[in-house]
Amino acid sequence: MDSIPKTLENIIVDLTKLPGIGRRTAERLAIFLLESNSEYLKNFSININDLNEKMSECEKCHCFIDIDENSTINECVICSDESRNSKIVCVLKKASDVIIFERTGYNGYYHILGNLISPIDGINEEDLNIDSLLLRLSNSHIKEVLIATDASIEGDSTALYISNILKESDVKVTRLARGLPIGGTIEHVDQTTLSSSIDDRIEIK
Ligand SMILES: [Zn+2]
Repeated sequence: MDSIPKTLENIIVDLTKLPGIGRRTAERLAIFLLESNSEYLKNFSININDLNEKMSECEKCHCFIDIDENSTINECVICSDESRNSKIVCVLKKASDVIIFERTGYNGYYHILGNLISPIDGINEEDLNIDSLLLRLSNSHIKEVLIATDASIEGDSTALYISNILKESDVKVTRLARGLPIGGTIEHVDQTTLSSSIDDRIEIK
């Protein structure tokens, strides 16, 4: 828009690229930043720049970590925590999924695939962090791999691929159950979810 100064417009365009932010919200946020004091703006820009320069990924699970120049081991807090359940590893698509799982009280380790298999988008097995998962399994006491990928075609293909690779190994491979949402009523559940609930039914007596 010509009526908006270019510097402000650049920020608005950047903000609209954030998830859930439309043009209107981006304009409001840009004006907020413009009217903020210079110290806040300076810190904010440094913090954003640090995301690019001071963060890396855990060499074990591929989760994001702060770069520690004094350490030769680049492991995340979770991988370094020996009090966790070392017998189970939960396989996730992206590092941000870890935050969601941590809220559930899950106490095992994680492995981030970085992607899901999707030939239509040109994403194949070699684009996923599967080799490092196999390496971890061969060098650890892990007894169970819990595949927690999305309930989608890509999630299913990825889960199937990993379970096939591990077919001959002693490691147990599990997947998240699919079923009724907590507090949901049967009449509002779609047919696919209900069918999965029947397939994944559990014994209560
Ligand atoms: Zn890690």
